[in-house]
Amino acid sequence: MSGQMENDEWILATLEKAMEKGRDVLCEGAVANYIPELAKANPSNLGVCIRTSDGRTYETGDFDIPFTMQSISKTFSLILALQTAGYEYLFSKVGMEPTGDRFDSILQLELKDMRPFNPMINAGAIVTAGCVRAANPFQAFLDLVRRLCGNPKIHLNEKVYMSEKSTGTRNRSIAYLLKSVGVLDGEPEDVLDVYFRMCSVMVTARDLANYALILSCGGVDPATGERLLDPQIVKVVTTLMMLCGMYDESGEYAVKIGLPSKSGVGGGIVAVGEGGYGIGVFGPRLNKKGNSVGGEAILKVLSDDFLLHTFAGVPNKLTGKS
Ligand code: GLN
Repeated sequence: MSGQMENDEWILATLEKAMEKGRDVLCEGAVANYIPELAKANPSNLGVCIRTSDGRTYETGDFDIPFTMQSISKTFSLILALQTAGYEYLFSKVGMEPTGDRFDSILQLELKDMRPFNPMINAGAIVTAGCVRAANPFQAFLDLVRRLCGNPKIHLNEKVYMSEKSTGTRNRSIAYLLKSVGVLDGEPEDVLDVYFRMCSVMVTARDLANYALILSCGGVDPATGERLLDPQIVKVVTTLMMLCGMYDESGEYAVKIGLPSKSGVGGGIVAVGEGGYGIGVFGPRLNKKGNSVGGEAILKVLSDDFLLHTFAGVPNKLTGKS
């Protein structure tokens, strides 16, 4: 018992060290302002939460401040499209390859066959949202998010949604372009409305840690033993997170941190551990690629000190598994 307590103290001390590193680099990033409402975020916010399959939670800083998940929604809409439209259909519309381009790039669409490269970039996520088969796709999305984050209070931020809906001309051009070539299912404005809503759902770092924990456990909630997701779907989603989840920084991030992750311009990053743990971080100042600078700095310390890299080849220091 005292061994666990000592370990807990060391883990919490490491979290504080990671937060300090995160604070040190905040000045290198800036809050997103291309969606006007996002510019109102508090630039000094920073927080982290880790949850493990044996019920431990380590959290510090602004881990319970809600923010809009933005592109983290792309992982949930991918799950929903796989559940409702199926693997074959979805991947006839969108690929599985990293792009090396910005998250909102249009460039590759015409250069290739108009099929977006993957579901983790805007073009791919808009197509994926159009593939969701449900009477009310946004409600189905919200129900899924609430279940996987273990938080029934999760809700839409109306202001951010309206702000993006009224300014999202680039996403609009992507949707209309893809409609013109028959890649997008449904009416562009209807699909965009669902996409903008999905991006505007509020979560906390703690919610994200819970979600990551369930992915880490192959889709089973370790607290109840209930299976929430098909393991095949978990495999697809976490693999695409590893390959494409950090946009055109995915390669460098995989080398340095090595955890399947997804970021959003609201400042969140969700990171899936191996062997039963999940991490959520939050810091709205972003680097040039649109990823949280403070969040990445925190994850780098955690990855190094807890030996979390997926390919580290040694047991990690959070769960003792590899
Ligand atoms: N809602 C944002 C957009 O479509 C999401 C982008 C992101 O988080 N990178 O531009």
